Amino acid sequence: MSSAEQEIAELVRVAREYDARHQFLEDLAWPGGARIAVNLTVDFDAMLLRRLLNEPPMQLAKGEFGGRVGIWRLLELFGSHNVKATIFTPGRICELYPQSLRAAVRGGHEIADHMWEHRVPKEPALEQDHLLKTAAALERIAGRRPVGTRSDHTRALLKREGFLYSSHDSAAHLPYYVHDAGPEDSCLLNIPFHYAIDDAMFYSFAWLGSGNSAQRITDPDRVFEMWWAAFWQQYRAGGYLNIVMHPFVSGRALRIAMMDRLIAKMKTLPGVWFCTCEEVAQHCLATRPPQRGQ
Ligand SMILES: [Zn+2]
Repeated sequence: MSSAEQEIAELVRVAREYDARHQFLEDLAWPGGARIAVNLTVDFDAMLLRRLLNEPPMQLAKGEFGGRVGIWRLLELFGSHNVKATIFTPGRICELYPQSLRAAVRGGHEIADHMWEHRVPKEPALEQDHLLKTAAALERIAGRRPVGTRSDHTRALLKREGFLYSSHDSAAHLPYYVHDAGPEDSCLLNIPFHYAIDDAMFYSFAWLGSGNSAQRITDPDRVFEMWWAAFWQQYRAGGYLNIVMHPFVSGRALRIAMMDRLIAKMKTLPGVWFCTCEEVAQHCLATRPPQRGQ
């Protein structure tokens, strides 16, 4: 074997090993014969990381709008349609905007982990400390520990702490299991999302220090068309849609009006299951449990 062939053989081996750690759930059926499950998910981070990085006041003010105004408008929107959302929340948001989180709990929404201060520390002990602090803070508000996360927290740690799912990757359009490579086979369900259905990609300028060329302010009508097309494709195929909203982004009035029209249009069709990520996770774990490990 030439050295190039050896190199390719090694790449193939690594790719197959990585592939084998994924368990995809083809032909996943939803409860009650629903054609599609729709998760409305909210990343309630109020630009926390930017506060920590001490970014310019204009950036910080955007995050503050999310905590003071945007989250309330989203809760009102969900309530008016009687749909339940999943709100991924950094632990420190419990200190900054506790009233809105309590209102979310009263509204029947799921509260899930979004890191302590919107970052996952590299040091294992500190990482665990952040996850436990967040779980405790969310539990004080919600009356129960979170079972889901949107983060890079390690699967083994999440599994040990009783988490059922992560919603952070997009290797498939339906939920799927990922097994860890280590000796401890920590398998966790991933509930996918994609940046194409993420408000920040369309409405957020200067996103994480991006230059002018990366700035974008999309017309809400255009976003409506794209997201409706994405919904319609999955509705016909029988599938899943995860819409990611940030209160400081989608909380602006015209964007709330767009989401109002989008949800109303989805509701005109039969077989649309609006549910929380936890409901999707419980359904997958009950009907399509992981095949190896636990
Ligand atoms: Zn976030």
